[in-house]
Amino acid sequence: MVAPSKSQDTGSIRIEREVQLGPDKIALEEARVIFSAGAGVANIDAFISTANDLNAAAGGTRVLCDRGELPRDRQIGASGRAVSADLYVAFGLSGATQHLQGIEKCARVVAINIDAAAPIFQRSDVGILADADKVLAALREGADNGVGS
Ligand SMILES: Cc1cc2nc3c(=O)[nH]c(=O)nc-3n(C[C@H](O)[C@H](O)[C@H](O)COP(=O)(O)OP(=O)(O)OC[C@H]3O[C@@H](n4cnc5c(N)ncnc54)[C@H](O)[C@@H]3O)c2cc1C
Repeated sequence: MVAPSKSQDTGSIRIEREVQLGPDKIALEEARVIFSAGAGVANIDAFISTANDLNAAAGGTRVLCDRGELPRDRQIGASGRAVSADLYVAFGLSGATQHLQGIEKCARVVAINIDAAAPIFQRSDVGILADADKVLAALREGADNGVGS
């Protein structure tokens, strides 16, 4: 999204316009809130739009990047990006060692998974035993109703 604004002259730098980047364009390394999807997310488009609506950067596991459901620069983990978000929300991802290596510096982790034995729950501060797509739908509904705004 581009938001034009009046020109400002600050001396050596002239600002012609301000450009606001959508959350899906923010580099994962700079994001404070990240929504991350794994193979347990069935509707990747709904996942990305929910992340955008809630101002979270969208990333995910290698499985989703290998499938072409997320661009490679959105892969988090040992062979992807290392991130240091204040809040990392893991939807339907198992928490494989190679993925966890990429989120070591995240302050808070919330995990949503249908398998109570998923390793991601060992790394999470809050664990939700639930269907990832249903939680995403509930978040969208909350956002539509103005919850959290
Ligand atoms: C050398 C090497 C480098 C690697 N580098 C990376 C890397 O950088 N990043 C990375 O991510 N991986 C990397 N991997 C791959 C890694 O080992 C895992 O295979 C991968 O992280 C698993 O992705 P996943 O969690 O999406 O899938 P899975 O392991 O298949 O997990 C899917 C999870 O979804 C849950 N689930 C299923 N349905 C639902 C539902 N409806 N709701 C909620 N939960 C559900 C399941 O219980 C399961 O826990 C690497 C592997 C190797 C060998």
